[in-house]
Amino acid sequence: MPLALPHTCAVQAARRDDGVLRLHSSDVRGGVTELRVDKLGPLGATGDRGGWAAYPAGVVWALREAGLQVGGADLHFESTVPTGAGLSSSAALEVATAVALDDLYGLGLDAPRLARLCQRAENEFVGVPCGVMDQMASACCTRGHALHLDTRDLTQRQVPFDLAAQGMRLLVVDTRVKHSLGDGAYAERRAGCEAGAVALCVGTLREVPHEELAAALERLGEARLRPLVRHVVTENHRVSEVIRLLEAGRTRDIGPVLSAGHASLRDDFAVSCAELDLAVEAAEAAGALGARMTGGGFGGSAIVLVEEADAAAVAAAVREAFAKAEYREPRVFEAVPGDGARRIPLS
Ligand code: ADP
Ligand code: MG
Repeated sequence: MPLALPHTCAVQAARRDDGVLRLHSSDVRGGVTELRVDKLGPLGATGDRGGWAAYPAGVVWALREAGLQVGGADLHFESTVPTGAGLSSSAALEVATAVALDDLYGLGLDAPRLARLCQRAENEFVGVPCGVMDQMASACCTRGHALHLDTRDLTQRQVPFDLAAQGMRLLVVDTRVKHSLGDGAYAERRAGCEAGAVALCVGTLREVPHEELAAALERLGEARLRPLVRHVVTENHRVSEVIRLLEAGRTRDIGPVLSAGHASLRDDFAVSCAELDLAVEAAEAAGALGARMTGGGFGGSAIVLVEEADAAAVAAAVREAFAKAEYREPRVFEAVPGDGARRIPLS
């Protein structure tokens, strides 16, 4: 259940009919990357698979792989999305690219298909085994809402999430750390979940009802899979719980559900880290309604739900706790649910 930040990755785009893709970002040092669209191949096509240009080039590759008639383009990016902070600047970059190309080449892609193609670009071209949630959030979120997304079939529903009207705020704490431990961890957790699903004879853990969790855990032979399965099943339940509370107008009560999500990510899924745990603990101790890490873990960001009146004190308490622990100063800002990808007319 993601929401979109109000930050934007904006792309200025022009079609080229010479099959050349020219990429430039004002957010990275270096000049223009020039590629031929018919020479794009996955992994290392840009010389270095870690290079930023692999993201937009990968989108062009994925669109062409899908048989869509996409040629060259000039693409210039300017982004306000914090990068590498677990806030999915990569999906913003991909989805901005796809929306621009869809427009330039009249592809008529719907949002789920566009998001899937962006995910394929990141999985196969850049080489990051991510899911599809971030791309769907970038493509589909709307202002004032969170997105209830089922990643099995990409069905989605906009859930009103207007905190300001109810006297609350959502803060983002960017810890500004990224532990290298995270590199293989996502793939490892994912493989564990897939093994858990196989052991329980279901297609995905999504199919294990929360009421049957205890029995399912007992049926799992391998003890190491139990916490992974417990995390996924309880997390799915927490999503339903949050929606139920939001729809009942009990927004404050989602706080403990967020905090329970953090405990589950920390203890069962084991993807948190000292900085994220400290951000959450310090926020809670200072009176936050709830807090949890977000994104892939091992660094990146946490989100904190606070009463409007407590926002400044909670942010200060988190900063103070980081200073005391001699951690890097975190970046704290407010998140107002914003719109997903769209064409912005030049004024
Ligand atoms: P996250 O998606 O959490 O921000 P990732 O490591 O998945 O972190 O993606 C960050 C990478 O995406 C950056 O290192 C860079 O290569 C690329 N990127 C994101 N935004 C931009 C941008 N505006 N310009 C150039 N590259 C970008
Ligand atoms: Mg990313």
